Amino acid sequence: MNEKKPAPETHFPPRFIASEVYRSTTYGSSHPLGIPRVSLAMDLCRALGWLNEKNFVDSPRADKAALAGFHDAAYIDAIEIAERDGRLDLDVAQRHHIGINGNPIFDGMYRRPATACGGGLYAARHLAAADGIFYSPGGGQHHGRADHASGFCYFNEPVLSIRELLANGISRVFYVDFDAHHGDGVQDAFADDPRVFTLSIHEAGRWPMVRGGGPGDAGGVDDRAGGVALNMPVPEGFNDSELEFLTESVVLPKIIEFAPDVIYVQAGSDALADDPQSKLRLSNVALWRAVGLVAGATRRLLVSGGGGYNPYAVGRCWSGIWATLNGFEVPDQLPAKAEALLREVNWQHRRGRQPFEHWMTTLADRPNPGPVRDAVREIAGKALTA
Ligand SMILES: [Zn+2]
Repeated sequence: MNEKKPAPETHFPPRFIASEVYRSTTYGSSHPLGIPRVSLAMDLCRALGWLNEKNFVDSPRADKAALAGFHDAAYIDAIEIAERDGRLDLDVAQRHHIGINGNPIFDGMYRRPATACGGGLYAARHLAAADGIFYSPGGGQHHGRADHASGFCYFNEPVLSIRELLANGISRVFYVDFDAHHGDGVQDAFADDPRVFTLSIHEAGRWPMVRGGGPGDAGGVDDRAGGVALNMPVPEGFNDSELEFLTESVVLPKIIEFAPDVIYVQAGSDALADDPQSKLRLSNVALWRAVGLVAGATRRLLVSGGGGYNPYAVGRCWSGIWATLNGFEVPDQLPAKAEALLREVNWQHRRGRQPFEHWMTTLADRPNPGPVRDAVREIAGKALTA
């Protein structure tokens, strides 16, 4: 008998997971996240002809049981109540860092992050079963803690998604975090867990890292979280050549050494030169290239968003990541429909009052190459011998 093996189930082409909830809810106009991000990236991709009914997934929303895969029930309840009532009792708010430290109470503060988690969990379940590429720009809340909000993050999508992968038979996950801030919440959730390796490239001395501390400080090069983390705190002015150098000389070898089944990439765009929340100087082209290099190292990939506080930069960067994952050509000049979307953006930040013309007319930044400084080489050396 001629036994034909069934073709392995795959989820190609890559899937873009998003939701209108990112358009209809906001952190508030005075908050750094009170800007269009996922909705703008989604609209730009549509205007460029890069989304259709085959590759777009309307994100499911995680229910409370799913969120309890990482978060405490009392914390989940508190966020739900805060969304419903628009307020919380002071002791509850303080216990869970809600309404303070940049984690505002707003309409959508429950359903928005629950949707981000639903998207990640959807991707994780599919990736546990088959090869594929999933892109969920609404995810990547890497600071969220089991029982409290942190750094604008309420529910930690990466942690929930990685836990879901492990619960569904995946044995090794490599997490790469390109956000300008240390991926502390993810690192700590998997500290001492040999199944999950977390690698974070972030700006040295920036929140949440302890500034000027000793060896082992959170996010420092000596912080190994039981040997399953690698941190590369990079200096101000971090440029395209330096990111490429670290990606090729450290990130890719570490991935090969760990031999993961799935790679998760947190692609926050706040390390870009145009972002107001960091002093790193990357072009979006450099980030696309780094994501592309990591994508080439696996057949099962989940890419999320993360930080990003200049709407023009975020929208353009995250659209370009989608192009990278698909091999779409990025046009030199945006078509009129895409340009119009960017011209409609209203950014209250002082850098938004006179936006650069190229933020409206192009997707790709001018590259920012430069010398690979000794400080960066030193970090790579320490990372490789760690
Ligand atoms: Zn960040």
